[in-house]
Amino acid sequence: MDQNLSLVSLPAKIPQLVLLRDVTKHLKRGHLWVFKDCFEAKQKFSSGVVELVHKKDSLGFAVFQEDTQLTCRVLFLNDDAHTRKNNIPLTFKLWSQNNWKRALTLRSHFPNHETNSYRLINGEGDGFCGLNIDIYGDTAVIKHDHPIMEKIWNHELFVEWLRRDLPFLKCIYLKRRNHEEEKGENLFGELKDEVLFKENGVVFASNIRDAAKTGFFLDQRDNRLLIKNFSKDKHVLNLFSYTGGFSLFAAFGGAISATSVDISKAAIKASERNFEVNNLTTKHTAVAMDAFEFVDLKLIEKVKYDLVIADPPSFAPNQKAIPQAIEAYTRVFSQALKLLKPGGLFAASSCSSHITYDVFMEICQNAFSKSNKRARVVYLGAQPTDHPYPLMMTELRYLKFILFEVE
Ligand code: SAH
Repeated sequence: MDQNLSLVSLPAKIPQLVLLRDVTKHLKRGHLWVFKDCFEAKQKFSSGVVELVHKKDSLGFAVFQEDTQLTCRVLFLNDDAHTRKNNIPLTFKLWSQNNWKRALTLRSHFPNHETNSYRLINGEGDGFCGLNIDIYGDTAVIKHDHPIMEKIWNHELFVEWLRRDLPFLKCIYLKRRNHEEEKGENLFGELKDEVLFKENGVVFASNIRDAAKTGFFLDQRDNRLLIKNFSKDKHVLNLFSYTGGFSLFAAFGGAISATSVDISKAAIKASERNFEVNNLTTKHTAVAMDAFEFVDLKLIEKVKYDLVIADPPSFAPNQKAIPQAIEAYTRVFSQALKLLKPGGLFAASSCSSHITYDVFMEICQNAFSKSNKRARVVYLGAQPTDHPYPLMMTELRYLKFILFEVE
């Protein structure tokens, strides 16, 4: 068999993992995760590709992650159209080609004249569990959400197909978590210190090696564009600004001034650089400071803004942290609301997958009550089309963005 034609690196023999509970229905509906309590505890495995078995029947193939509560991430089931009975290698090959083609087709409008930064592979949303591939101009960045995934995915073939189908690429970089010893490696070409790319006509510069995630928060693209439409002649405050994304779009939309606030000095420096590379002359104030403290300070100084954006980090990294996260979001939103002029606009966002849209709306309602303000909902936003997720996995619909007009 030609191992090299599967995007999954297959072991010589694929071990079988026996399911204790019948989760067939759940999997057949399209959910791709199986948790620890669904397996016989005594089975000893090391992480890798496994065949899922229930009552002697093979269900399909998955990646086993021995050290997490989320134990199994499904690759595909045997009832998928590409399955060839008794020919596992051919099945993996056809599955790889099909998944790859589907991912590319969904992004066929990228790159274009205005935007050459987009997510090509969005983990389970594209059937490639734990794997993200983002494109930034001539640079592709591959990132896994768990170290085991580096052994699962066949990087050589990804590089080959990326170069074949995206011939403009000059570098393919494998990025690891920032705290890991080896931050990343060039799989093709060489990563530049500063990678330039475009989003809806705005140029961004990213130091991908040290940046958050794969280099930029591509998921706010549509929401940043929306902010552009509402910024004319306004004083805009961008809390948790990272490298200034919303501030740049506000400036391009005709804002009088933009203020970016982020606790990370590097992000604040990068926001200034982004104003520079766009030759923008809009007044931009970039402040490296805790956003909670900044808001308190401006309340004392009685400074007011026409448009405030608050896009905090994920305050709820897990289920247990939800109550504190709700409290933190409510606190920062209710305080930030006090900085608005009457009739101003407020944009609130959260990227925490543990906070549902309904809970987020409730957080916003409580924040408004706490600051004694009423509002109209102008727009509900989410992640853009290059961040799809399986219908049954609403936990992967993580991004929430609401624009309010405040009375
Ligand atoms: N809106 C941004 C993404 C924001 S990500 C964009 O469009 O690109 C969240 C940001 O919050 C990160 O840059 C992180 O450094 C920052 N952050 C985390 N805690 C903070 C705090 N207490 N005060 C200010 N910024 C904080």
